Amino acid sequence: NNKTLEIENLVIQYDTDDGIVEAVNGIDLCLNKGKTIGLVGETGAGKTTMALSILNLIPMPPGKIVSGSIRVDGIHILEKTEKELEGIRGRIVSMIFQDPMTALNPVITVGEQIAEVIRIHQKVDNKEARKKAEKMLELVGIPKGRMLEYPHQFSGGMKQRVVIAIALACSPKLLIADESTTALDVTIQAQVLELMKDLKEKLHMSMIMITHDLGIVAEVCDEVAIMYAGRIVEQGSLVDIFENPKHPYTEGLFNSIPNIDDRKAKLKPIKGLMSDPYNLPKGCAFCDRCDYTMDKCKTMKPEKIIFSESHFVECHIYKDNKNYTLKYGDKKY
Ligand code: SF4
Repeated sequence: NNKTLEIENLVIQYDTDDGIVEAVNGIDLCLNKGKTIGLVGETGAGKTTMALSILNLIPMPPGKIVSGSIRVDGIHILEKTEKELEGIRGRIVSMIFQDPMTALNPVITVGEQIAEVIRIHQKVDNKEARKKAEKMLELVGIPKGRMLEYPHQFSGGMKQRVVIAIALACSPKLLIADESTTALDVTIQAQVLELMKDLKEKLHMSMIMITHDLGIVAEVCDEVAIMYAGRIVEQGSLVDIFENPKHPYTEGLFNSIPNIDDRKAKLKPIKGLMSDPYNLPKGCAFCDRCDYTMDKCKTMKPEKIIFSESHFVECHIYKDNKNYTLKYGDKKY
């Protein structure tokens, strides 16, 4: 089996005082060994919910996994007990969050924090764990002499490197990075991304990059999944999505970022806001914001249109005309 991740028909709801929110609304996703996929979309699209479900970390209640299956390296995550999951998180699948400080304990030295993860998962003695921790620190570009320092003695970028060292200490098969460089300034962000790319190669991992930044996607991803209102509305290889975006929402995302070649070009933000999650439109969830809305968009859910083995879109436009070109379709991004 060449697949690190297989998600089938995943539906996740939150039961809140205001009603039921379908945060993830029927998602299928596969990721091959050694590949990186970018999960792109606005806040509220369901990206983080989906990521948390891969570690079986959805708070239940209010969350509820209504249907679906998730397999990581062949293991059925949703069928495991909490005890079994402790041995899976960190060892099979690891996650890095946006704010490194929430992931680090301020009163324990960074070396000890890395060593602890190694001790728990690899059942080695203290000396061995510390040796491995030193190696991990060096791998992320921090001299082992800093083992005994505390998190506050590190800069933001260095702290994020420590978090990466902890996440990778047990060589997981899958690393999920949730907006993990957003808090860093641009230069440091580029360095951390470069490091993650490099480590992914060295450790033969697969990676999920959750981001709203298409620049990051272009840097590190092999594939891209565009999420909107709990669904993947378009998915393809990096080239498919950047050279030949099909979904009006994908087009909107590209139009709302500065064009590197033409700095004078006006940015065109996507109009309106993400649909009210308590009250999604009956048809296409994007219909209130789309420049191409037709009558049927308001009443019928768009089906999946397949362009190639790697590229699909959910949009009515292509049902009868696969060659339809969006208004900005000939623009090179
Ligand atoms: Fe726009 Fe209709 Fe396509 Fe939805 S299905 S993205 S509303 S054209």
